[in-house]
Amino acid sequence: MMNLPLYPVTVVGSWPRSKEVLRALRDKRAGRIGDKEFFQIADAATLQCLRLQEEAGVDLVSDGEQRRDNFISFVADKLDNVKMLSVAELLDYVEDKASFEEILGALDVPAFSLSNPAAVGRIRRAKPLALEEFLFLRQHTRRAIKVALPGPYLLTRSMWVEGLSQGAYPTKEELAQDVISVLREELKELIEAGADFVQFDEPVLTELVFTQKNANRTFMCGALTAKADAQEELRFATDLINEVTKAFRGHGTRIGVHVCRGNWSTQEDVLLRGPYAPLMPFLNQLDVDQLVLEYATPRAGELDALADLQHAQVGLGVVNPRTPSIETAGQIVDRVEEALRYISKERLFLNPDCGFGTFAQRPMNGPEQAVEKLRACAEAAKVLRSL
Ligand SMILES: [Zn+2]
Repeated sequence: MMNLPLYPVTVVGSWPRSKEVLRALRDKRAGRIGDKEFFQIADAATLQCLRLQEEAGVDLVSDGEQRRDNFISFVADKLDNVKMLSVAELLDYVEDKASFEEILGALDVPAFSLSNPAAVGRIRRAKPLALEEFLFLRQHTRRAIKVALPGPYLLTRSMWVEGLSQGAYPTKEELAQDVISVLREELKELIEAGADFVQFDEPVLTELVFTQKNANRTFMCGALTAKADAQEELRFATDLINEVTKAFRGHGTRIGVHVCRGNWSTQEDVLLRGPYAPLMPFLNQLDVDQLVLEYATPRAGELDALADLQHAQVGLGVVNPRTPSIETAGQIVDRVEEALRYISKERLFLNPDCGFGTFAQRPMNGPEQAVEKLRACAEAAKVLRSL
């Protein structure tokens, strides 16, 4: 694990894709180009976004998820017996199609974001999920590297589709056991390869507590099967994450969990809203080094919730990836000083609230804004280190 300065500046993961990458993703999916051609384009784009992060002053860089269509669907290419479902196919498995479509419309959910990986048999890792991408990046940078993976709860929720998965897994709890095995294999290999940070993305945790209506029928990646009882479901999610990380902490790789309230639209009013308080009891039970929390958006509530966080470091969201205006270093410094009332500086990392391109087809900003926002974080970090 590389030593990092105080207030390390990092990213949540994804970076906006260029037109070339978007075309290559489409062509690969349609079978018009093979892996070799695709990787030539994606590798070049990865190096470009790496260079931009380095120039902006990011201490802990990512590969920008340039090879992924979104933060979860890519697993279909890596796992045996996982099939990609389009939104039309997914609708076949929803009992009330009309109201589901209405929810999607009202929430400004892009239909393409719903391409969803579904388990249609016993899942198994055919290829590593992210190891090869990490090794590629390792060859090209001296900076510390963060690798983002979909968390076990997100994967289980998304991949267990009633009517498709039941043959192999009568319940989603049974699928969860194989999801845990897959993620443990991956985490072990990433630790052995020297990844500095592995982040598990669990955006649907907030959906359990902040969705008032239709709580059992979510829109994030078509995950359709939450239990009615949010507390029970949060306990289930906590157990899954802890099963994945068990015995892996303290081996040189920081392990984190990212929680946010959706990153599919620049319309803040359609995204979920609510403070961390109802999640805190569960976040405190997570066996991880760091929680990567959005805090630039007012939808995440007040910073005083951090006072209840007992152990974990915090990757503090200090810039909003969805807004066109660029936060100033001074604003970020003020925000961090407010956070320091509740949490010590040794426990703070600085990052955007979420990725800049969670869904390839709908980036939240262009690369220019992403660079400027990260540069503001790096400038703020420099000021904070000198205080
Ligand atoms: Zn996020």
